[in-house]
Amino acid sequence: MAVGPLVVHVARLRRPLGTTMRFHASAPLDDERLAPATAADSRVPAGAEADCDFLLESYPGGIMATGMVRVPWAGVCRRCTTGVEGTLVISLKERFCDPPGQGEPEDEEAFPILDDAIDLGPMVHEAILTELPLAPLCREDCEGLCPYCGIDRNEETCDCVAPRDPRWASLDVLRSTS
Ligand SMILES: [Zn+2]
Ligand SMILES: [Zn+2]
Repeated sequence: MAVGPLVVHVARLRRPLGTTMRFHASAPLDDERLAPATAADSRVPAGAEADCDFLLESYPGGIMATGMVRVPWAGVCRRCTTGVEGTLVISLKERFCDPPGQGEPEDEEAFPILDDAIDLGPMVHEAILTELPLAPLCREDCEGLCPYCGIDRNEETCDCVAPRDPRWASLDVLRSTS
């Protein structure tokens, strides 16, 4: 039988159908599954827990899970490269269904009910991976780094000017002689 911090046994929930149950847990996450591909990618800090609060309700053939996941995240501003952090608050409404009988089509949108239990873990991981900010900003109007000298334009100013485009050089010659 499945074990884990987000596994819920649902036999009682399904008799009678329509029974509801609140499920609340703070669960450590599987760091391997959420490992960022590169150092610049947003991530859930190591050891952080996901706060999961769900209402579970049985219906014929399945369980509906409706609720929220809160989890801290950290990343790097895409313009100035300073650290950025925040909390993801994700609303979810997902179905868990019995495995299909012979010849029945599989409901690909649903998560499985196995041995009278559901595991909210895969659903939570999937949602976090989808919601992690891809290219966060430290603030909306971040000035970023100077591409020439590298100073942080939020804190300092510089006199760098964009190098002239050589294609315009001949025009400058014309201008100076006219
Ligand atoms: Zn920034
Ligand atoms: Zn500069």
